[in-house]
Amino acid sequence: MTTSASLRAVPTDADADAARADAAAGTRAAPLAAPKDLPALDRLLRDAALAPLVRTHGHTLVAAEARALLEARRAQARAGTLAAEAVATPALAAAVQAAVHARLEPRLRGVLNLTGTVIHTNLGRASLPPAALAQVAATMAGPNNLEYDLASGGRGDRDAIVEELLTTLTGAEAATVVNNNAAAVLLTIAALARDKEVIVSRGELVEIGGAFRMPDVMAAAGARLVEVGTTNRTHPHDYERAIGERTALLMKVHTSNYAVQGFTSAVDEAELARIAQAKGLPLATDLGSGSLVDLAAYGLPREPTPREKIAAGCDVVTFSGDKLLGGPQAGLIVGSHEAIGRIRRFPLKRALRISKLPLAALEATLRLYLRPERLAEDLPTLRLLLRPQAQIRALAEALRGPVAAALAPRFAVEVAALSGQIGSGSLPVERLPSAGLAIAPAQQGKRGAGRALDELAAALRALPLPVIGRIAQDRLLLDLRCLDDAAPFVAQLPALARSLGHPAAGADTEVGGAAR
Ligand SMILES: *Cc1c(COP(=O)(O)O)cnc(C)c1O
Repeated sequence: MTTSASLRAVPTDADADAARADAAAGTRAAPLAAPKDLPALDRLLRDAALAPLVRTHGHTLVAAEARALLEARRAQARAGTLAAEAVATPALAAAVQAAVHARLEPRLRGVLNLTGTVIHTNLGRASLPPAALAQVAATMAGPNNLEYDLASGGRGDRDAIVEELLTTLTGAEAATVVNNNAAAVLLTIAALARDKEVIVSRGELVEIGGAFRMPDVMAAAGARLVEVGTTNRTHPHDYERAIGERTALLMKVHTSNYAVQGFTSAVDEAELARIAQAKGLPLATDLGSGSLVDLAAYGLPREPTPREKIAAGCDVVTFSGDKLLGGPQAGLIVGSHEAIGRIRRFPLKRALRISKLPLAALEATLRLYLRPERLAEDLPTLRLLLRPQAQIRALAEALRGPVAAALAPRFAVEVAALSGQIGSGSLPVERLPSAGLAIAPAQQGKRGAGRALDELAAALRALPLPVIGRIAQDRLLLDLRCLDDAAPFVAQLPALARSLGHPAAGADTEVGGAAR
């Protein structure tokens, strides 16, 4: 604000460079502020400009943000990089307000998943059905009967809330639930085979992603892994020969995120169950995704169901709540009375138990399966997987114009046939025929094109409702399978155009029939 401030600021090399650049450009450097030009914290907080903010949010938060701001400004002033007008009270008050609002913004936010992967592990996996959201809202704001038996007035068991549903839907005798499927596998192995041996085929020693690798889970559960067969072929006699004194469990793992093709052979559950029963051993299968309905009946790629595995003779089947099942994060364990009883009584169960929020959502999601005729409508995951390509293409055609207008002249937009995936490790080979928008930089030049696409992807992620696409073959692809309602996407196009530096293009975007 004063020229004396800029005279007192310690000049740095950067300032000298900037001054030289200014001189070369024929402009004059803006006046700079010194640390002593900044107000004391108390004075700033007492200023009328901050009074409404303090009234709304209280002294603690506003003071913390004001203190941090003043410290940052002081450092800038010391470095000679703080413009004189930045120390004026209105400017500081506005900056404190922005900082308070930013601090109150949730870090966990909704996004638009236009990656083409329906159950995306990095994007929160399955979207919850409205029925599940309603059940969480209805039961979680107050007390509930989580572990209270309303019939007897005595202590209840949280498993009881979903056990009957799970046995009905899988044909199993008993069921229990934990925090996620990784916990279900860990608990099953620990409860049935701690300090003993578990026999698994070498073709099934999967890594799911993150830190979940079958051999490590075995070790963590305190069991000894006995590998049998080879990567591509395992036979019944491989299991039979490996069974010994210390064997406690035979285990199969669904190779959910990869496929072994060609000269292969595996022993199925029915055959393995005969081997296990002959030796009085339990058989467990980790299904990973485990759809509760036969997806082939809907024209989707087949995925094994827990019901089939129980019918084949498995004593325990584990699967996820938030993959193909379409519910909250949970680990479902179904099986025989004997095996589930041991699992439920094992002390680790208490540490891995499901919490009441996902349990409420899980119960409501499972209940949807009692009306399979309506499932494709009621369960968002299934609805999105079943969305016809023609419908997705029609949406792409409706959105092409508005998106092209927002991105012109730097990018060209085309409707494209795309190939999506179910995701979360299920069905790694099969692709979902889909459609969407393919966006390419208008001018050629490979390096510039890559940078332009990265910039566009970043601008899409920076929108109030972040849009996540994917870059492939020098284009940014927006797969529209999971764009349920286009209106929030279209409403952001003017902001997208502005962030890319062409406000005129996006300002009067006509939504037209695209909003469905
Ligand atoms: C996904 C998966 C898991 C882990 O399940 P979470 O619910 O993510 O803990 C374990 N096993 C298999 C085969 C899987 O596909």
